[in-house]
Amino acid sequence: MRVSCPACDTTYDVPDRLIGAGRRLRCARCDHDWMVRPPPGTEPAPQAEPAVGTESPTGLAAGAAEAAPLPAPPSRPKRASRAPAGVLGLWLAWVASVGAVGLAVAGLWLFRVELSLAWPPIQRLYALLG
Ligand SMILES: [Zn+2]
Repeated sequence: MRVSCPACDTTYDVPDRLIGAGRRLRCARCDHDWMVRPPPGTEPAPQAEPAVGTESPTGLAAGAAEAAPLPAPPSRPKRASRAPAGVLGLWLAWVASVGAVGLAVAGLWLFRVELSLAWPPIQRLYALLG
């Protein structure tokens, strides 16, 4: 939708999805900030973005100065404590799967006679492997 700064009348094209049910914008020309609300008649989506979004507005009209949303979203601290356990788990899973494959191959070789008796088609596999 088109919004204009109430202080200096500079107009901006702001994507509707960025406004949602309402959003604070700051005029890039005069630094005035004000609350932008969707025009009456347009129902805000039930899952509209909160007024404090994580995206910066894109697609503003060329020539118009950019309107920066206010305030900046607080950066969430990342939970780094779980990362080492996850890496270790992946490593253990990798070792376990390599070990399982190795055991399977060793078992195939060690019990080739028994396996050939129990499941004759496997003899073709052994023939291929020599
Ligand atoms: Zn302005």
